[in-house]
Amino acid sequence: MDYDEKRERLAERLRYELNLSKKVYEAIKKVPRHLFVPERYKEEAYVDTPLPIGYGQTISAPHMVAIMCELLDLKEGDKVLEVGTGCGYHAAVVAEIVGKKRKVISIEYIPELAERARTILKALGYENVEVIVGDGSKGYEKEAPYDKIYVTAAAPDIPKPLVDQLKPGGKMVIPIGNSVQWLVIVEKDEEGNVKKRNWGSVRFVPLRGEYGFKSVRYD
Ligand code: SAM
Repeated sequence: MDYDEKRERLAERLRYELNLSKKVYEAIKKVPRHLFVPERYKEEAYVDTPLPIGYGQTISAPHMVAIMCELLDLKEGDKVLEVGTGCGYHAAVVAEIVGKKRKVISIEYIPELAERARTILKALGYENVEVIVGDGSKGYEKEAPYDKIYVTAAAPDIPKPLVDQLKPGGKMVIPIGNSVQWLVIVEKDEEGNVKKRNWGSVRFVPLRGEYGFKSVRYD
């Protein structure tokens, strides 16, 4: 079976298991995950599992990417901030959903990962994903406010700058916790009131930076 067939099978399975919307299903079916992972993991790219991408980091499992996209209720034209670019795969899936005319801003802490993600995204034509090196735990004020924000590393608590950078009516999805982690959905209503709810338990690498965990080792 070639990569396209494997990807189609994975997308079909996720659609069935997670009752995916058409737009999320189409995006998962389209983005070539095998081109984002290191060469030695290519054959496993369409197994529904996280994989190492270097620097102690991982590409999230496809089902988690799909779930986060669904929870954010992404729409064409949404302005999105991703905290934690990793290899760029999740950002590419989001870029497929929000459309080519909208910029997806993605911040990565580790410069080497950011550079690698930029190269892959550019080669695949995702000109609308802008990868920035920096501490995304503080958000990215320059492009704020955002319709949607998602964080791909677990934070000790919800960083205030991220809530501040969310538009009224906006939504954020963020894993919170250390040994036990919860995926938290944060919604800001038109008056600026903020509501939080737990989606369920998850497993992510720790967030670094000012609003992240202080003693994280990266080997
Ligand atoms: N979405 C990614 C993908 O598709 O490959 C997976 C991201 S990985 C699970 C989490 C990423 O968050 C890592 O690359 C890590 O370096 C990054 N990270 C951790 N703390 C960060 C911070 N304060 N600002 C930006 N990125 C951060």
